[in-house]
Amino acid sequence: MLDIKITRAEKLKEKPDDSVLGFGKYFTDHMFVMDYSDGIGWHDARIVPYGPISLEPSAMVFHYAQEMFEGLKAYRTASGEIQLFRPDRNIARMNNTAKRLCIPQIPAEDALQAIETLVKYEQDWVPHSEGTSLYIRPFVIATDPMLGVHPAHNYVFMIILSPVGSYYAGGLDPVKIFVEKEYVRAVKGGTGQAKCGGNYAASLIGQEKAEKYGCEQVLWLDGVHHKYVDEVGSMNVFFVIDGEVVTPELTDGNILPGVTRMSCIELLRSWGMKVTERKVEAAELFEAHRAGKLDEAFGTGTAAVISPIGVLNEDGNAITINNNEIGPISQRLYDELTGIQWGKVEDTHGWTVKI
Ligand SMILES: *Cc1c(COP(=O)(O)O)cnc(C)c1O
Repeated sequence: MLDIKITRAEKLKEKPDDSVLGFGKYFTDHMFVMDYSDGIGWHDARIVPYGPISLEPSAMVFHYAQEMFEGLKAYRTASGEIQLFRPDRNIARMNNTAKRLCIPQIPAEDALQAIETLVKYEQDWVPHSEGTSLYIRPFVIATDPMLGVHPAHNYVFMIILSPVGSYYAGGLDPVKIFVEKEYVRAVKGGTGQAKCGGNYAASLIGQEKAEKYGCEQVLWLDGVHHKYVDEVGSMNVFFVIDGEVVTPELTDGNILPGVTRMSCIELLRSWGMKVTERKVEAAELFEAHRAGKLDEAFGTGTAAVISPIGVLNEDGNAITINNNEIGPISQRLYDELTGIQWGKVEDTHGWTVKI
């Protein structure tokens, strides 16, 4: 058990109206902070007023990006209770990321206690309107004031909270996706399976390019052959081909193992449907479309839950999937997952954790 010291903010902020929330624009009154030093380990767990932090310009995170993060949400149910969705999976993934980036492990029970204590302390910030939630962003940075390239000896673990709006305020609109053949997000042996800022820095250029071509996001292909599908934007991706659900396999370590991805696979299998994790060639998708067999395509992630793909654009050759409408499997997954998350559907899987 962590001994979490609490310093209350002198003045609490005015909470924004649910209608203006958007994503990651507003932050709550307090944040969680815990330090790490070699020889001492993690220490000084505390909840303090949200605000700027002070670091030396030489802090290692600024130069060599020894940084990792997580993303999950707290949901308010109709009865007013607050719950998390599979936080144990996020914490396990955080420690896998830590291993890849030579960041010290955070005991799972301490990480969960930190998240639960902060969310409970800030519970008035969990918005009430349909589809809104409190986004939880845990992250760790290397703070040694030193320019040598080696794992740091000092870190800070922080958790900040942001009330976020409904992703689909304007309805569940399918997205246009650009098949990216020049830039890659991750390579075999790299950091693709780690949730770290560096991956995102490397992905921005592809995102800009996609937007230039009138698309919302990028379909990332593998870094070795530029042939197999990895992910879509910052989401995992699923296809329904000739009635069968397929999703890229995680075996090469270049795909982020999403909690939403895992939950979709488990739900589909519990419904008696076949899900195949395997390599998926981009060319195969276009062929299946020609043959009239590309039934559905969708991205999965905590932010959007299910994001239907309406158009795939490869070198200007654009195909439309399922009439640019959400398909039946995508819709069923969306309804079931959001139902469990907001407490409208019974959680028979033991995925939710009440706060
Ligand atoms: C976080 C993330 C996902 C989705 O993971 P969830 O746990 O489902 O939110 C997918 N791809 C990338 C690159 C990510 O960073």
